[in-house]
Amino acid sequence: MKVLKFGGTSVGSAARMQKLLDIINPNERRIVVLSAMSGTTNSLVEIGQAYLTSDKAKAASLISSLKQQYEAVVKQLFSNPEYQAQAKEVIDHHFGLLSGFANDLFTSIEDKIILAQGELLSTTLYHIYLKEIGVPSVLLPALDFMRIDEDNEPIVDHITTHLQPILDKHADVNLFITQGFICRNAFGEIDNLRRGGSDYTASLIGAGIHAEEVQIWTDIDGMHNNDPRIVNNTKPIAQLSFDEAAELAYFGAKILHPQSVFPAQKYKIPVRLLNTMDPQAAGTLITNTSEKDKIKSIAAKDGITAIKIQSSRMLLAHGFLRRVFEVFERYRTSIDMITTSEVAVSLTIDDTTYLDEINKELGKFGTVDVDINHTIICVVGDFAAEKNGYAARVLDAIKHVPVRMISYGGSDHNLSLLVKTEQKTEVLRSLHSRLF
Ligand code: ADP
Ligand code: ASP
Ligand code: MG
Repeated sequence: MKVLKFGGTSVGSAARMQKLLDIINPNERRIVVLSAMSGTTNSLVEIGQAYLTSDKAKAASLISSLKQQYEAVVKQLFSNPEYQAQAKEVIDHHFGLLSGFANDLFTSIEDKIILAQGELLSTTLYHIYLKEIGVPSVLLPALDFMRIDEDNEPIVDHITTHLQPILDKHADVNLFITQGFICRNAFGEIDNLRRGGSDYTASLIGAGIHAEEVQIWTDIDGMHNNDPRIVNNTKPIAQLSFDEAAELAYFGAKILHPQSVFPAQKYKIPVRLLNTMDPQAAGTLITNTSEKDKIKSIAAKDGITAIKIQSSRMLLAHGFLRRVFEVFERYRTSIDMITTSEVAVSLTIDDTTYLDEINKELGKFGTVDVDINHTIICVVGDFAAEKNGYAARVLDAIKHVPVRMISYGGSDHNLSLLVKTEQKTEVLRSLHSRLF
């Protein structure tokens, strides 16, 4: 069994949906994970925002224009009036639900129900389309098997025990369709795996059912060696290790959800990144092995805040760093980068929800300085091959740019730099021209 995930652009129009089957090959058993059609989740976020600010008129207008887009899709997707009517009913149901929130108390629970509608719509419409063209398939409700615990961690065992029996029950069916992104939380409410979470769904399902392979079909031919939105002439990378891919995804390579590599890595399931627009392209294969002696790729993560704690008295006293880390632990805020000196320690966070509280507590240890609007630039490659002088080449390439922090040696495949976000484009381009 393979798991194939198609992202927003891959299901972004009726024409795109009609082409999917060329890639899917329904002669073999497959679970197909679909995202919402491109743009839908952003619109749903806006609708939720409008309700949260009690702007019901704005919510109604956003709902109405999104509904019109879906009505147009239904007209193009179906040729048989019977299936067109079924699809129209589906649309009326989901948009009726969206409009219905105008009459209720609106909280984050309702907001998450709104966010779930995109994947529910795309999968249901695609399932009806498969019926129209006579391809047998089963629609699997992700809310029945995808679950996160109290710490928002997905539960792979829950997938195994709840999904595998359904697959076994339909031994004669090859094609299963399900929603990416959405899940239930520890309270049984509708929730999600964070933006871009359909990749995570695919990898979690792969882990849960011990799939032979997970394929992430998107709008580009694999993981490139730099951010193609910012740098010209980027190239796809043929092979990455799970560690390298995880690092790139976490530090900003948008092609993969930050957590999506881990389930596949744990259960040793190869992941392929492939291009729906160019299905013959080789893409990227992510496995346990990696090409040696190479710098692979560069990624950038914005929205980083650097915190420096200066304390001549006790920095190197044992137990000091523990107490610093405990502050972040108490506020459930994870640290991305850390550097130390004799008199100070600098670290970075991306979640500033509790920044004021954290600052106040750190203030007990010494002087605290906070720098906002920074970007982590992450260079991934085989730094163990130090004979190549890669670290020196990285620093040489950006010698004209002020660097706030450097982290090197944490693993042998990563070097991270912290720079002001306004310098990001320059840094990415300089590194690209000097390293590749
Ligand atoms: P999908 O909707 O299929 O999940 P995404 O938009 O989430 O697609 O991810 C694909 C996009 O990621 C590409 O179009 C590309 O612009 C962007 N991207 C950012 N960094 C990289 C990278 N290093 N390699 C490939 N794509 C990248
Ligand atoms: N539709 C969701 C999003 O836009 C999940 C995904 O596309 O992966 O974030
Ligand atoms: Mg994505």
